[in-house]
Amino acid sequence: MKVVSTRGGDRCSVVEALSRGLARDGGLYVPEHWLLFRTDDFAKCDALADIAAVLLRPFLADSPLADAAADICAEALNFDTPLVTLPDGRTHLLELFHDPTGAFKDVGARVLAACLSRLRLADTPDLTVLVATSGDTGSAVAGAFHRRPGFKVAVLFPDRGVSPRQKHLLSCFGDNVTSYAVDGTFDDCQAMVKAAFANVGLQAAVPLTSANSISIGRLLPQMAYYAQAALRHMRRGGAILNVAIPSGNLGNALAAIWIRAMGLPIGEIAIVSNANRVLPDFFETGIYTPRPSVPTIANAMDVGAPSNLERLRAGFADAGHLHTQSVDDATIRQRVPAFLAEFDTVICPHTATAAEFVAGRRAAGDLRDWAIVATAHPAKFESVVEPLIGRPLPVPDVLARWLAVPAHALPLAAQPEALATVLRTD
Ligand SMILES: *Cc1c(COP(=O)(O)O)cnc(C)c1O
Repeated sequence: MKVVSTRGGDRCSVVEALSRGLARDGGLYVPEHWLLFRTDDFAKCDALADIAAVLLRPFLADSPLADAAADICAEALNFDTPLVTLPDGRTHLLELFHDPTGAFKDVGARVLAACLSRLRLADTPDLTVLVATSGDTGSAVAGAFHRRPGFKVAVLFPDRGVSPRQKHLLSCFGDNVTSYAVDGTFDDCQAMVKAAFANVGLQAAVPLTSANSISIGRLLPQMAYYAQAALRHMRRGGAILNVAIPSGNLGNALAAIWIRAMGLPIGEIAIVSNANRVLPDFFETGIYTPRPSVPTIANAMDVGAPSNLERLRAGFADAGHLHTQSVDDATIRQRVPAFLAEFDTVICPHTATAAEFVAGRRAAGDLRDWAIVATAHPAKFESVVEPLIGRPLPVPDVLARWLAVPAHALPLAAQPEALATVLRTD
């Protein structure tokens, strides 16, 4: 299977695309055509790793990783993504937070890291994975490359833009991971990383690589939990599953859209954003207007210029199965306790946006099966969630393990030169 650029000027293998990130013509890689999977292809599979291996094998065929798909998935995806049916029998929670850093981004980051470490040649200088994060990406990437020989990680996050627990998770890995608390915004962090990649002299001294969500290596593995949810629901005798997805840069929603195009039984897909309403506005008007992001209590979705929209526009003339909605902070604050009262389940502020969409469908008389995608564990956002529900939240073991480790982040000025200096001296 080859991948092609959204801008039409590049075509290469998936493995080449993994090492490259952005396509050579500045576009984003997408599959050249839609593979068609049948549910029989997954006859013996239920575990996330097994389903992911079936999905990824054709993408890795004819590459140095051709025989490694099962191995990569078993190593990277050793946790479950359960589809939990709520008390009304027709609303479901697709829990994507039982992984090491308590948010769905581990799925893509861990598979990408397992691929890249198998592609690395011996006796080459260490590669530094440089990542700017507004929260969950940084800890997922740091965790995925932690203690991998041949790799270092430099994580940049906005010192005042992440929750206290997010900050701890971003700063507790140590070893080959260095965390920088930047005196600025997420946009500053991104600009610093961009400048580092454009700095030829720096790259010659310090080989850099990226692991951000433009990498197709992060997107493809995310299809696995949608395939798994659709299959599990079908095997339980359920009707077709519709999914509501809290969205920022659209990576998670694209995985659902792609796996649907590849034949898995998914019905409608709702792309739900927070107060950053670029996506809903695009779907309403057909005009894409990127703008500076506004901070919200669902901070991992604070994206003003969703780069993955380019992938969506490249592939889908027919968007008839897509819905969008924007949910502001005040509504999130109401939805978290309302959801607890209705379903006896605590959700994170991101998940609450999708829950709000489904609540709207119910109010309009929609009785079909909807899965709300739970993108993070609520205990990761305790400073938002606990005041809303009026009690402390127990911390799951996976997170507690990291929270017990001392954290250490280095302060960094929001200037490209400051980053170049620390990368050269590290
Ligand atoms: C990253 C993230 C999102 C947004 O996902 P996209 O793929 O950027 O649309 C939503 N919720 C949480 C908790 C996240 O970490």
